[in-house]
Amino acid sequence: MVRKLSPASAPCCNCRARIPLTIYAVLFCSDTCREEAKFVRYVRRCKADGRIQKPDVLGAIEIRRAIILGGGYPSRERAVPESVRKAVVLRAAGRCERCGGRGSDIHHRRGNSNLVRDLELLCRKCHNRETQEGIVEVDPASPEYPILLKRWQSLERRIEAKIPTRPCDDQKKWLLTYPRMLRARQEIVRRLGSQRPKTGHGLTLSQNHQ
Ligand SMILES: [Zn+2]
Ligand SMILES: [Zn+2]
Repeated sequence: MVRKLSPASAPCCNCRARIPLTIYAVLFCSDTCREEAKFVRYVRRCKADGRIQKPDVLGAIEIRRAIILGGGYPSRERAVPESVRKAVVLRAAGRCERCGGRGSDIHHRRGNSNLVRDLELLCRKCHNRETQEGIVEVDPASPEYPILLKRWQSLERRIEAKIPTRPCDDQKKWLLTYPRMLRARQEIVRRLGSQRPKTGHGLTLSQNHQ
């Protein structure tokens, strides 16, 4: 007799959409959600310790906010392989290719292309300036404006909330909370896996939770 599988799901910690728990135990439904929650915690931390007063921190927040509202940084597509990174650093002799300062960031000059010739070694300052110049102001008359505004207002409410409105917003406790939540979800996946007929694939657990 075949035992019927109970459908298991859990809410995304950020947007609360249901995520099916089948093969992977995850806390967020998407990279965008993980990034949003990380952004909320980051700004809450900066507010709590007073760093928010510093102009360079405010600049960094503005950049991250723009990236998040623009749909998130395509971190997977843009992950630069180590060998490519080394080739870029070597070409630039470790110097920022704009100002000659200490090079620290790899800048993508052409979309997500990871070709050495499409990458540039920059210092943090030049990279921030470059990114800031790339921020496009959304026209209030455009159809996406109300959607973006609503998304931003909801993030802002979470940033301003005295008591974090969800566990993933808690800049102090999240590092302790997320392993617990993840273990509980892994347990569900494991239980379902043992009910499922063996396929020989085993289970893989996502490592990217924060
Ligand atoms: Zn989500
Ligand atoms: Zn520079």
